[in-house]
Amino acid sequence: MPNFRIMRTLIIVLTMSCWSLTAGAQVNPNVYSHRVGAYEIVLLAENQGTGNTGILVGATPEMLQKAIPNGTYPNAVNAFLVKTPTQNILFDTGFGRNLEANLAAVNVKPEQIDLLVITHMHGDHIGGMLKDGKKAFPNAQLVLSDIEKEYWIDNQKNEGAIRAYEAYKGDVKLIEPELADKKTADGLFFFEAYGHTPGHIACLIKSGADELLIWGDLAHAMAIQMPFPEVSVRYDSDPAEAAESRKQLLKYVAAHQIPIAGMHVAYPGMGKITAAGTGYVFTPMR
Ligand SMILES: [Zn+2]
Repeated sequence: MPNFRIMRTLIIVLTMSCWSLTAGAQVNPNVYSHRVGAYEIVLLAENQGTGNTGILVGATPEMLQKAIPNGTYPNAVNAFLVKTPTQNILFDTGFGRNLEANLAAVNVKPEQIDLLVITHMHGDHIGGMLKDGKKAFPNAQLVLSDIEKEYWIDNQKNEGAIRAYEAYKGDVKLIEPELADKKTADGLFFFEAYGHTPGHIACLIKSGADELLIWGDLAHAMAIQMPFPEVSVRYDSDPAEAAESRKQLLKYVAAHQIPIAGMHVAYPGMGKITAAGTGYVFTPMR
């Protein structure tokens, strides 16, 4: 008959060693690193604070009372760095206020960024693309969805977006994402997440058996949009389409147990999604 106490100790040790492979590590209060296979996903938080209900679209008093009875929720402005064995890939740039310092915390210089993926061209994502009017990441190729480029640049919607795009124009990769997966670089698969902006994209990172979805602005108020994914925000160019994208990707990551990283998800900016009733529960990584 097996010794139960020894078995239990063994299980605890095994669980702990497994967890240490999947859990992340704090570098400083704005920088957090999590391993996905051979890749390192690094949170670069520029701002951490709270949001208000004024930006929500489609939230009933009952939903608010249930999800955020004190009327506020944690949020953040994040960028993410993906370090692969051969490349440094930056996802979004925030407003650009803390980016260089955050990158320095993990010993990455701006000229060492190989790829700059922009999920969409709002100011809180493209603000750090330029430095003194030039490419802030001089050696980076810009990756952007073709629809996003058409919307902001070809239609001349926003001067800031045009200036940022022009600086990178010599080295741009436009992608046509679709849910069928489109691989553009080692281990990167782009997904449509339209609605927040017309060409907003998410990116699935795959290394070995491990995966993580960087979902851009799929959610701005996790505390209410996870239990009620139908709630959108005023910044969504098409709130109904944004809600559809959110429901679709939430279903996908919950079904496949894929952790997520989000540009407005509070520290550590990453976590797991579990289905619960008609909505979802978000568990931050530790
Ligand atoms: Zn945003």
